This record gives sequence, structure tokens and C-alpha cells, in this order.
Amino acid sequence: MSDPARVLVLYAGGTIGMKQSGRGYVPSPGYLGEQLEALPQFHDARVPVSIENGCRIFVTPPSREGRRVALTVKEYDPLLDSSNMGMDDWARIAEDIGRAYDAYDAFVVLHGTDTMAYSASALSFMLEDLAKTVILTGSQIPLTTARTDALDNLLGALTIAGQFEIPEVCLYFAHKLLRGNRAQKQDASGFDAFWSGNFPPLVEVGIDIHAEWARIRKPGEGPLRVQTAMNPNVAALRLFPGITAETLSNFLRPPLEGVVLETYGSGNAPDRRRDLLDALAEATARGVVIVNCTQCHKGTVSSTYAAGKALAEVGVVPGADLTPEAALTKLCYLLGKGLGSEDVRAQMQEDLRGELTVGGERRYSHRVRE
Ligand code: ASP
Repeated sequence: MSDPARVLVLYAGGTIGMKQSGRGYVPSPGYLGEQLEALPQFHDARVPVSIENGCRIFVTPPSREGRRVALTVKEYDPLLDSSNMGMDDWARIAEDIGRAYDAYDAFVVLHGTDTMAYSASALSFMLEDLAKTVILTGSQIPLTTARTDALDNLLGALTIAGQFEIPEVCLYFAHKLLRGNRAQKQDASGFDAFWSGNFPPLVEVGIDIHAEWARIRKPGEGPLRVQTAMNPNVAALRLFPGITAETLSNFLRPPLEGVVLETYGSGNAPDRRRDLLDALAEATARGVVIVNCTQCHKGTVSSTYAAGKALAEVGVVPGADLTPEAALTKLCYLLGKGLGSEDVRAQMQEDLRGELTVGGERRYSHRVRE
């Protein structure tokens, strides 16, 4: 039998490893690693535990396809509810992957579900020339609670990490492996908590595991580069009927450098509101990069309507089918590289990690609308 695949599990926090307490679910140091080691799905007790650099390594039983995984769990301190996570935490995960890159075959990040789509998007940009599998997963119910979804999610993520080479940052949940920068949390209570409306799953797990190789990106050719400088002067604004020019102008003030403008439908904003358009034009003239993303969870920004074209005319960049999560983290990443605003505008419209569909404008009729 082949050697087990070496998978590093970075445990950042989230419900998956939490314990029930008087105040509700709380993270508990040391607890998840102990529980995993005690569960026969994760630890074949016939294979002795080894210790490397102070970390315990235990081996899973063979998968249905006959592959074992040697699992090393690295627990973060503090363990975080993901609503407390930010750019420094993305950098820490990216750096840990960078440091351990040669020693492991793949990486699984255990993460809270609330901001998992942001972290997955951010990591997809921060890990340049990635050639190994990185999967974020978590659960809606803790691992040690009956009826948990953690077992399925973690076993599925480990199985894919251990036997497939998917050189992308992915998110695994409810039997589906999604491209991380296409995923969004869609359900606060159901087990099928994530979806990627504009891009179908990379892998679906049933009795068999089906990988869609035509959708999976090719590995990076150079050595992995970890870019941790993320520009924090970015924000998202969800447009709403009746927004005042004063609110918009105040929002667009320095030090803001990048904005995700969440617009209506296929990228529309009120083109009869000159005051709003002037505020946007003034900000873009100052070099603020404003990206147009739809508030809808599926579909793309297009230039079908005059109301959408007006935004492009004042310098707002069309975000195609980017999710707001991907657009925001891509802005942090590109501005973090110190690129000028024209370069950032150009690259926001390019496909860097499979995050958007280039030239994918949808038609709503056979007529060409001017
Ligand atoms: N609030 C938790 C978190 O995001 C929710 C979860 O893990 O599902 O950390």
C-alpha cells in the first residue's frame, strides 16, 4: 500500500471544534485534536501515533479508494469564532501554509462558517502559483454533538485532500467541493450552508467521488509565493433605494482606496441621480477603485441597461460575476501589492484565480441592445 498522504490541518476555530457551555458554544483549546484522535474514522488505532516537532501525527483508516491520510493538527491560539477574524488571520494561515508547503501533500483549514468565504477568497489570491490542494471546511454543529455535520465535512475534505491534486483554494461543505473564491454562505441554519451560484462544484461526493477536471485549474508553475500584504482601506456598500449623496460621499472619503459597490440586478444603479454619479466620479478621479458587483447571488454585471452603463461612464469597474467576497479580497490583495489604481482597475477585470468569468456577459434577448 502507498504511503499515507501527509495532510496538515490548520485549526483556526469555528463551531466544528467548539464545546457547549453555559454561554453557548465556545472554542476549547486542545479539545478537537483529542476528539479526532479518539474517533476511529480519523485514527486507525493499529497505526502508532508519531510525534514530529511537538505535533501528534495519526493515520486514518484507508478510504473507499484505499488511501490513508497521515494527519497533523496544528491548533491556533486563540481559537476564533470566524466573525472575529480579519486580514492578519488570513496572513497567518497563508504563512503557515507557505512554511509547511514542502513537508505536506495538502492542507485543510478548519474555520468558522461565518467568514469562511472571505478567507477562502483571500487565500486564493495570497497563495500565488499554488500547486497543492488547500481546503477550508467547518460545520454548523460541533463535532462532538450528536447529529453533527462535522464528521461528513471533515472526512470529505480529508479524503479529497488525501487523494486528489486540486491546486486551488477550495471550500468543502455538504458533499461539495467549491472553488473558494466563488463560494458564499447561503444558509445560516441548514447543513447545505455554502453555494457558488456562478460556478458549479469542482468535486461532488456521493458513493463515488466525482471530480470535474475540466473545471479544475492547472497547478502554478513557479514556486509558491505567499503575498500577505493586504490593503485594509477597502469597503463594501450595498446600494439601496433612497441612498443620499451625502451618505455616499462620506463613505467614499479617504483613506478609502477600494470599494465593492453592490448594485441592483445586472449591475444597475439610478442613472437619474446625478448627485450619486457625481460622488462616484469624484472618488474615481481621486484614484479610488470602485467595483460593480450585483446584489443577486447568481448572474453577472452587464451593460444591458442604461442604468448600468452610467456607472461605467463615471469610472466604476464592471465586476462581471465576482462575488462581493471575492471582489473585496481581490481589492485588498491588488492594492496591497502597491499597484497603481489603473493597474488595479485592469486586473479587477482579469481572471487571476478562476474568480470571474471573462467575456461571460449574458444575453437576455436575441436583440442587441445599445
Ligand atoms: N460563528 C461561527 C463561526 O463562524 C459559526 C460557524 O463556525 O459555523 O466561527
